Amino acid sequence: MSSRINHQWCLASRPVGQIKQSDFAWKEMPVPIPEDGELLVRIIYLSLDPAARGWMYEKVSYVPPLAIGDVMRGFTLGVVEQSRHPKFNPGDIVSGLLGWQEFAVANGKGLMKLSKASSFPLPAFLSVFGLTGLTAYFGLLNIGKPEAGETLVVSAAAGAVGSIVGQLGKIKGCHVVGTAGTEEKCHWLTEELGFDAAINYKTESLRRSLSMHCPNGIDIYFENVGGTLLETVLTLINLRARIVLCGLISQYNATDRVSGPDLASIIQKRARIEGFIATDHYQRAKDAISDLQKWVLEGRVKYRVDIVNGLENAPTAISRLFDGSNKGKLMIRVSEEPL
Ligand code: NDP
Repeated sequence: MSSRINHQWCLASRPVGQIKQSDFAWKEMPVPIPEDGELLVRIIYLSLDPAARGWMYEKVSYVPPLAIGDVMRGFTLGVVEQSRHPKFNPGDIVSGLLGWQEFAVANGKGLMKLSKASSFPLPAFLSVFGLTGLTAYFGLLNIGKPEAGETLVVSAAAGAVGSIVGQLGKIKGCHVVGTAGTEEKCHWLTEELGFDAAINYKTESLRRSLSMHCPNGIDIYFENVGGTLLETVLTLINLRARIVLCGLISQYNATDRVSGPDLASIIQKRARIEGFIATDHYQRAKDAISDLQKWVLEGRVKYRVDIVNGLENAPTAISRLFDGSNKGKLMIRVSEEPL
């Protein structure tokens, strides 16, 4: 039995409305010991994602719901400390769904090994080269199918996914307009990321600002938010517009039925709304990461990470996704990176 202690956050209750600290239980136990075919991973970074809110509901979505008492689900990046698995060695850096805990024993399924030759900082692999970047890449390129000269609108544009989507849109030659919730975020989009315009959806009239910044209408809408934003965008879409339904964060904490937009213009404009889950496209992840790494090295894609120290802070930090105070890909530093 190991003398080291593993800490975990487990689901204690299903949240009503916003996530509360009391929805989680802090547990401690000895660090598990791997058996034949298993490996022990020390978690370094834990990704905090809006999808976590959905995983806490009882209903089945694209993954089974968590049971009360389960370790909270989450994407992680960690270092292999012990291995009794033929494909993994101590010192390997791995990413996978190992949850809100400091150590995890895994059987290797679903774990991805990072190349040792990489010179990128580790948090990049939980953001721009992780689920975040791949969501932006597959959603925009496979579903949005951007053409040079088209107008792309992105919501939650200063967030982890949205900020990459807009920059990929610029690489493809689009006129890119983003919406975000603060002046600082809007300024970052236009001054540092090269967006053509940014709209503060909390202070500006969406209809007026979208009409002004999209004089040729909207060809692609990358939807991260839902509600009034989608409703307003639909009044401005062009013939054969594409709407990439990536997320609906404005509805994740809703306790009452959410009133939906009038989708009639989708029909009138022969537009297509297509939902997607980034992991369905993972067979092309190698090509996508290689494109993203090239664009980061060329300075054409920038990303920012928002790192909170300490696993104990995960339940409070996750609220920042819903009040908009995260600046970039939100993650927890669970332990120190290897030297
Ligand atoms: P972000 O870094 O974008 O953080 C969430 C942001 O959403 C906040 O910073 C806030 O920015 C904005 N927001 C929160 N509540 C509201 C609201 N009520 N109205 C408008 N904006 C709001 O998170 P991610 O990049 O990780 O996720 C972005 C979206 O992508 C989510 O909808 C998520 O579910 C989805 N997603 C989908 C995947 C897929 O496979 N389909 C995979 C990964 C993510 P602001 O200050 O601008 O309000």
